Amino acid sequence: MSTVPDRPPLLQMALRVEHDIFVVRQRGREVAAAVGLEHQDQVRVATALSEVARDLLGAVGGADVTFHLDETPDGRRHLRVDLLPVRPLPDGRYEPQSGAVARLVDSLGTIGVGRDTVVRMSRRVPVTAQALTPERLAELRTELGQSTPGSALDELAAQNQQLIATLDEVREQRDELAVLNEELQETNRGVLALYGQLSEELEETNRGVVALYAELDEKSAQLRAASESKSRFLANVSHELRAPVTAIIGLGRLLADSASDPLTREQAQQVELIRSSAADLLTLVNELLDLAKAESGRIEVNWSEVDLRPIFGQLRGTLRALAAGRPVELEVEEPPSATLRTDEVLLGQVLRNLLHNGLKFTERGEVRLRAHLRDDRWVLTVTDTGPGIAPELHDRIFEEFYQVPGVTRAGGTGLGLPYARRLTTLLGGTLELASEPGRGSTFTVTLPVGGA
Ligand code: ADP
Repeated sequence: MSTVPDRPPLLQMALRVEHDIFVVRQRGREVAAAVGLEHQDQVRVATALSEVARDLLGAVGGADVTFHLDETPDGRRHLRVDLLPVRPLPDGRYEPQSGAVARLVDSLGTIGVGRDTVVRMSRRVPVTAQALTPERLAELRTELGQSTPGSALDELAAQNQQLIATLDEVREQRDELAVLNEELQETNRGVLALYGQLSEELEETNRGVVALYAELDEKSAQLRAASESKSRFLANVSHELRAPVTAIIGLGRLLADSASDPLTREQAQQVELIRSSAADLLTLVNELLDLAKAESGRIEVNWSEVDLRPIFGQLRGTLRALAAGRPVELEVEEPPSATLRTDEVLLGQVLRNLLHNGLKFTERGEVRLRAHLRDDRWVLTVTDTGPGIAPELHDRIFEEFYQVPGVTRAGGTGLGLPYARRLTTLLGGTLELASEPGRGSTFTVTLPVGGA
């Protein structure tokens, strides 16, 4: 331990006879108290010192005892007691008789000082102890030097006092410990109760969540069943309706046939009305049947490598008539020659549907079909210069039977777009709309090159 050297000792005294053991003990306690050790530590130092003193008196006939206050450069202080034996120690070593002695101080052992071997013990002074100025130290030296040591009886009485005080302290600590234990147990009980409560609440919540999921599952099963039965109903009804409606159209045609009995003008008009109404009805029934089939997954996709050019050619040929006599152009651009894996009939239906709508709703300008490849997708667009559709209706027009109010150009069922979107989904693609009122519409079908 590095220390500030050459400080004179606080006190020195000789240990030569048995009575000196008491004196060493007493002085040890006084010095310990003077440098700021706490009560318990004062007793420890005094006890250790009297034990070592007894050992040395017995072994070598005494020692010169010096008390020092050391201070390390980092400001820590230690009370150090050196006992210089009056004769050399046997084997130059010292072991306390009682092993417990060493535990009373921070360090205890022999150390070479010049040619001598000294028994040294030290105890740390708490940082909270008041620092001692050089003046105070000098004062202390004088005080300690002047005070006369008491008798052995005085020391015994002092020891008894210390013992009683220590016992009191121990009892107080035990009581404090008991209180602390009690509190700890109380806290533990509280924690356990809280834990139990929390687990119960958690279980309760879990049960709630499980029940909620079961309910959700049940609801979605019900919804699925309802939607399936709706599709089945639609499919059945439209199927059943198709035969009589077709019969009405056939009979109407027969009635109007020139080979049949001639009709009056009025009768001919009525028969024509019956025929056109029946034709509208048949369109509706067919579209309903298609949609119901698509929804119930009863449409089979026939995948093959498809060349778009013939499909586009056919659309150009069959739909041009719809623009005839009006200031509207149908522009079907020549598609890239690469093939696409899809169902050509279903794709044809989707495009026809979109072009048909474009031609139906566009008064003047053009309806254009264009196809190009972007990355690994085919992008097919149907653009028109028609009235356009307000953004808030972009989702609605894909709902069954929805038609934008106020769009006059006749006819339609409101089933074309939902059907087209269904088919596109079946083909593994998407159908999107970009449109604004007054700016025309663009319907975009995007399909994967390699099919779904
Ligand atoms: P339908 O054409 O038989 O009425 P659709 O499902 O094909 O039914 O279309 C739904 C509605 O969306 C149409 O009634 C129309 O109001 C609107 N719509 C569809 N295509 C266009 C378009 N190209 N331009 C403007 N409005 C359109």
